[in-house]
Amino acid sequence: MKENKKLPDKTVERLSQYRRNLLICVANGKSHIFSHEIAGMLHITSVQVRRDIMLIGYKGTLRKGYDIQELILLIGEIIDSNSGQRVAVIGVGNLGRAIISYLKGKRSKLSIIAAFDTNIEKVDRIYAGVHCYHYDRLAEIIKSEDISIGIITVPASEAAKVAENLVISGIKGILNFTPSPVNVSSHVFLEEYDMITSLEKVAYFVKKNEF
Ligand code: NAD
Repeated sequence: MKENKKLPDKTVERLSQYRRNLLICVANGKSHIFSHEIAGMLHITSVQVRRDIMLIGYKGTLRKGYDIQELILLIGEIIDSNSGQRVAVIGVGNLGRAIISYLKGKRSKLSIIAAFDTNIEKVDRIYAGVHCYHYDRLAEIIKSEDISIGIITVPASEAAKVAENLVISGIKGILNFTPSPVNVSSHVFLEEYDMITSLEKVAYFVKKNEF
């Protein structure tokens, strides 16, 4: 893959999913895999899988398919940053705590370094090994700890203010879990995940029985 070439965000999503599934294959003792097997695991077409893998410049062999270890390493080189990336969670409620515990130790290149909350009962407590700071210290800690990604898990009414504050503090990417969309400047990558939208989509197709 050409240096600095930006992949479409859906491709990046699928590469992350490929890697998760390939790691399970390795754990099960598998060494090679065909595109149709990856496609079957993710319920997509093998043409899509081959296109994505060609985009990152990897070729398998006709006889054995892709070497799983090589593919995992290559996906890592493309998705992960060399030095790793440091993440903060803003809002240490039910979801914030679940995310901190879930991500703990999952990805060596993505580490949750700090959490922030306005509730003084949560401030200076440790959640799954992560220090919770008062929200007033957001800019200071983001700078001193070189944090580049912020995860927003505050009440929806607070989301816009928190996003603005994260951008001012120098954050480069935001994952917003609140149902309230936020605005960020174009140099910040924003991903919004609304669980209700996903659930309503499932409910619609179950109702129509059209999947
Ligand atoms: P929660 O009320 O349990 O937690 C919110 C936390 O944010 C609290 O600890 C609160 O003190 C803190 N907070 C409030 N204002 C803040 C601010 N300005 N800066 C820093 N911290 C602040 O809520 P929750 O259930 O964890 O949900 C959080 C958000 O995620 C909501 O917007 C919710 O709609 C969304 N969400 C939650 C779930 C879930 O399963 N809990 C699922 C999907 C989306």
